[in-house]
Amino acid sequence: MKQNNGSSAVSMSKNKSRKSWSRLPLKVKLIGFFLLFAFLLLVFLWLFQIVFLDDFYKMIKTSQIKSSTSYLCENIEDPDVEDLIETIHTGNGMSVAVYDTSTEFFTRVYESNTDRDMSLDIMPHQAYVYYIKATDAGGRVMIETEDAYGSLFGSGDSFDGRFQGEMPKIDSESSQILTCAQIVKTQSTEYFVVLKTRMTPVTSTVDTLMYQLVIITALLVIFAVVFAIAVSSVISKPIVKANEGAKELARQNYDVSFDAEGCKEICELSETLNIAAAELSTVDRLRRELIANISHDLRTPLTMISGYAEVMRDIPGENTPENLQVVIDESRRLSELVTDLLDLSKLEAQNLPVNMQEFCLTDCIRGIFSRYAKLVSQEGYVLKFESDCNVTVKGDEIRMGQVIYNLINNAINYAGEDKTVIVRQTLADGKVRIEVIDNGKGISQEDMKYIWDRYYRVDKEHRSAVIGSGLGLSIVKNVLLLHKARFGVKSKVGEGSNFWFELEACPNQIP
Ligand code: ADP
Repeated sequence: MKQNNGSSAVSMSKNKSRKSWSRLPLKVKLIGFFLLFAFLLLVFLWLFQIVFLDDFYKMIKTSQIKSSTSYLCENIEDPDVEDLIETIHTGNGMSVAVYDTSTEFFTRVYESNTDRDMSLDIMPHQAYVYYIKATDAGGRVMIETEDAYGSLFGSGDSFDGRFQGEMPKIDSESSQILTCAQIVKTQSTEYFVVLKTRMTPVTSTVDTLMYQLVIITALLVIFAVVFAIAVSSVISKPIVKANEGAKELARQNYDVSFDAEGCKEICELSETLNIAAAELSTVDRLRRELIANISHDLRTPLTMISGYAEVMRDIPGENTPENLQVVIDESRRLSELVTDLLDLSKLEAQNLPVNMQEFCLTDCIRGIFSRYAKLVSQEGYVLKFESDCNVTVKGDEIRMGQVIYNLINNAINYAGEDKTVIVRQTLADGKVRIEVIDNGKGISQEDMKYIWDRYYRVDKEHRSAVIGSGLGLSIVKNVLLLHKARFGVKSKVGEGSNFWFELEACPNQIP
């Protein structure tokens, strides 16, 4: 229990510190990041330039002498071997001696000029010792020794005035001498190759570097801070500006415009916020319209119902079946409106139960057509259904019926003077296409974008005389999306509209 408390306390404090870090201003964070970067840079510099410098130097020297020895051994019988030895000597600062070990006296056959650097002299007796060591080691040996002359002479001051002649060339610090010796057997004879090089102590170099690094450290810290401040102001300025605009947006001021620039992401953010502002403004307008429309749509039938009911109650003889029919019709309309609203909200929330099964779409359309018999006989509408086969599809029959019903209702409501509505069913490439065509007033390009939005009406003036809740196409869109159907509208002002959708037909349909 106690442990539990302890771990929750730890995670709480972690959360707290994470929160406080995420709430830090951009400037502070950037300074932090730049300082961290500078710190890491300096750590690497100090490690490589100071701590490991000696090891690196030794490593490089060792590999240099090894590769030079190998190269010389490979080319020992080359006619230009003397030039090669000279190149190794002058280029790499190594002394070279080559002995013929097949002779009785261990004869020196080549030798580089040692520049009077006695430490790099290769004495015959020394060479002999190296030879024995190389033989024991299997052919090649690496030897690291103190510079005997260096420690003996020191800086050479002790010979001041008494030594006649040129002072031997030695390093004042006690350096190390690295020797690489290798036995090379050729067809005719055996050679012994000895290379010597000096490893100068890096202490003085390290001192210089350290001094430089202290200055570099100070400069880097100053640059990191200055740079972070400059960069943060370049980055944060447009973000602060965008944030101000977003706050305005939150205060429901949809006229705000975002024009912050700075980098690609900020420009994109500005564009997105502009789109969001436009969308929010549309949603707000639609919301107002929605409330106005719903109130109007609810009030009209309610007024009718209560009006007729009062008339029937108060005026004798008015309790006629016709008046009662009006009350029944208006109540049905009211109920349809409420059902539409509920359906739409469920569809949009994606929690409307759907019953996907195979059903005959053609029969479904025929069934809907029968509902319009009265409209056809009494009001002179011409409703045509063109189909050349029965098509089965997989979907929710009730919802698909709702789609077709809404589309036909709209076509009737907005039909032209010819009062003709055609529903056409075609089957091609395994897909059934349903088109609902009228020759009415059509829809403008501008309105075409919005007609699928709920409560969008091209004709803003409320028309309670026609059927329709202003939710019809919105329900159509959501049901078709649920069925993953393709859908759309072709329309021309003054010529009429063609609302269509396509569904996957079940296999084995006879065209
Ligand atoms: P409504 O109840 O207003 O018909 P809908 O969502 O069904 O609501 O339609 C939205 C709008 O689309 C309609 O108000 C109308 O302006 C336009 N519309 C829909 N169908 C047609 C059509 N066949 N011809 C012309 N305009 C149409």
